[in-house]
Amino acid sequence: MFYIGCHLSASAGFLAMGQTALSINANTFQFFTRNPRGGSAKAMDPADAAALMTLCRENDFGPLLAHAPYTLNACSKDASIRDFAYRTFTDDLARLEYLPGSLYNFHPGSHVGQGTEVGIAQITDILNRVLFPEQKTTVLLETMAGKGSEVGGQFTELRQIIDGVTLSDKLGVCLDTCHVHDAGYDIVNDLDGVLAEFDRIIGLDRLRAIHINDSKNPFESHKDRHEKIGEGSIGLSAMTRLINHPALRHLPFYLETPNDEAGYAAEIKLLRSVYHDC
Ligand code: FE
Ligand code: FE
Ligand code: ZN
Repeated sequence: MFYIGCHLSASAGFLAMGQTALSINANTFQFFTRNPRGGSAKAMDPADAAALMTLCRENDFGPLLAHAPYTLNACSKDASIRDFAYRTFTDDLARLEYLPGSLYNFHPGSHVGQGTEVGIAQITDILNRVLFPEQKTTVLLETMAGKGSEVGGQFTELRQIIDGVTLSDKLGVCLDTCHVHDAGYDIVNDLDGVLAEFDRIIGLDRLRAIHINDSKNPFESHKDRHEKIGEGSIGLSAMTRLINHPALRHLPFYLETPNDEAGYAAEIKLLRSVYHDC
């Protein structure tokens, strides 16, 4: 089964997102748990969440991917921002119990001058306080472009975070194609090599989701600006190899490209046309 979807606005509610996904031939999607640049979250509507779960079951959806707000920085130098990250994380994980089996993706954070080691220690500290044994959500660390003081631009940094977390069976990784390309992992000319390195350092069993984005910037630019599929420095043939790769083809793919709904529908159609059934 090819699980392909895109980022959708959560403003009309859970069931509405499922219906939008169906209307653009998606069979999964990503959404923000709350205002991506702020912190406020709508009140949880358990009936709406249950209706979405039914829609997903009836239409063989892949796992839903909830994305933490960009303002969540678990390794800020500012203790009040780290506290906001802790409270947001805790609240999001509690709410996601209404969407059992979902994935929760977050950017590990930016250490803002404290150094990578301190950053990693602060991220593992928050994870050790928010994860709980009964949770039905898998928390994903996103691979980052290595912009500024971002943690997570190197596979080794994600490995160090995972190693510091007690309930590490609740953790996985979301690989963002734009980010890894910008970070200097050559998925265009050496996808096998990149995946072998991922497997050696993190383990491919941790890889649970792919953000499928082209990049506006050249290889190793450390920029993080997403481009439409086939229109950036990664290109459609590399994307085609990626979605069909034996180590990746079973994973859910989520578009975060600069598109409206019609643009996403066209990209989903394009990717479905180049995915090999076997
Ligand atoms: Fe992200
Ligand atoms: Fe992403
Ligand atoms: Zn990005």
